[in-house]
Amino acid sequence: MLSDTIAAISTAVGESGIAVIRVSGPDAIAEVERVFRSKTTLTEADSHTVHYGFIIDPKNDEKLEEVLVSLFRAPRSFTTEDVVEISTHGGIISVKRVMDLLLLQPNIRLAEPGEFTKRAFLNGRIDLSQAEAVIDLIRSKSDRAFSLALKQVEGKLSRKINELRHSLVETLAHIEVNIDYPEHDVESMTMDFIKRKCTEVSSGIDELLKHASQGKILREGITTAIVGRPNVGKSSLMNTLARENKAIVTDIPGTTRDVIEEYVTINNIPLKLLDTAGIRETMDIVEKMGVERSKAAVNEADLILLVLNSAEELHEDEIILMEQLQGRSVLVLLNKIDLPQRLEREKVTQYFPESAIVELSAKTEEGLDHLEDAISSLFFGGKLESGDLTYVSNVRHIALLKKAQQSLADAYEAADSGIPIDILQIDVRLAWEQLGEVIGDSAPDALIDQIFSQFCLGK
Ligand code: GDP
Ligand code: ZN
Repeated sequence: MLSDTIAAISTAVGESGIAVIRVSGPDAIAEVERVFRSKTTLTEADSHTVHYGFIIDPKNDEKLEEVLVSLFRAPRSFTTEDVVEISTHGGIISVKRVMDLLLLQPNIRLAEPGEFTKRAFLNGRIDLSQAEAVIDLIRSKSDRAFSLALKQVEGKLSRKINELRHSLVETLAHIEVNIDYPEHDVESMTMDFIKRKCTEVSSGIDELLKHASQGKILREGITTAIVGRPNVGKSSLMNTLARENKAIVTDIPGTTRDVIEEYVTINNIPLKLLDTAGIRETMDIVEKMGVERSKAAVNEADLILLVLNSAEELHEDEIILMEQLQGRSVLVLLNKIDLPQRLEREKVTQYFPESAIVELSAKTEEGLDHLEDAISSLFFGGKLESGDLTYVSNVRHIALLKKAQQSLADAYEAADSGIPIDILQIDVRLAWEQLGEVIGDSAPDALIDQIFSQFCLGK
């Protein structure tokens, strides 16, 4: 299967400046050479060089595209095979023309989704957790999530897991010795050793799991619901924060009928902002649906931005809302400070004595920096750069790590209650296998196929 040559468009299709077509496999260079006219001959060119020229239809010598061709010779490429990357002008028509021409060549076929990364994995260039990190890279929605995924690509998680596995192999070796030379004093020494190792490895896994929820936050963004009565400025705030006009801003109360999502990055913290319809009892069925959804959004939010109109007195709906939000992570935003002020601040402080209260204007953007500071200090004590952590944020990884911990707990208990050592060996080996599955070492083929099928085409 790896003896053939594959090609796919590797950049997102659509309006972009350039697009890249990637070709990988033993015939990659020769096949591209067939349709490429340039001063250099690709088959003779050095690895890691870029060549300017044209894609030509060899049947009629028609120039299809002006391109740059990058050459990577095996094994110094992403897939470890010969790789050619053709950069064309963006836009679906020109890319497709080049792609169609390539697929007409005798030894090139269209790559399956994720096949480039799968080849990198099968050729031993990356391990499974790194391959999954590539999926996350493709999907990551913020710079922070991107660097997080990148860290995983660089193999940090793999290194940690390998350390833990090494510890277990040592333990298994100890057990092996004991089975071969079953003198009594060796056995009791071994039991202590096993218990110590189980505890050590288990707390190593704890370290990885401890940051799992933080990893999740960073990848998907901190779910942040913007709530408040109609017309207090929720959508305006969202727009100001997102610098985009996705949410509809109007003067008529209740037009934000549904929950609108927007991803923003504030002081490096990715937030998933949810603009909710005004939360209040309503008779309008359509609006009511929006209200129901916004209640759900509030329930699942990590952070709630409660927007109040500081130019008006507190409304009884707002008193109810403040009561409902007791005990949650709330930042109170007094919006519209550019207008004459009427809101009784003490009443608000009374409900949220612990929370920061930020005065701002979504219209003039005054006070916006205070909001941004309040968000960072709330989540990270003002310091986000926890740079040296290894995050685990993949559901499959978390499940496997927990399973491995359970196996270690079983082994510990067995060692403690004097169960024959060859039985406890099974649990230790199981833990070793489960950790191995995280990095694809003992993963069954079906699992590997499932993981790679998540990739989009061309990656
Ligand atoms: P929502 O219903 O809570 O989403 O409120 P909108 O964002 O739709 O805003 C309602 C109205 O208030 C619009 O006319 C906005 O232009 C206006 N508005 C929002 N924020 C401010 C502000 O800080 N100052 C002033 N003067 N007007 C604002
Ligand atoms: Zn709105």
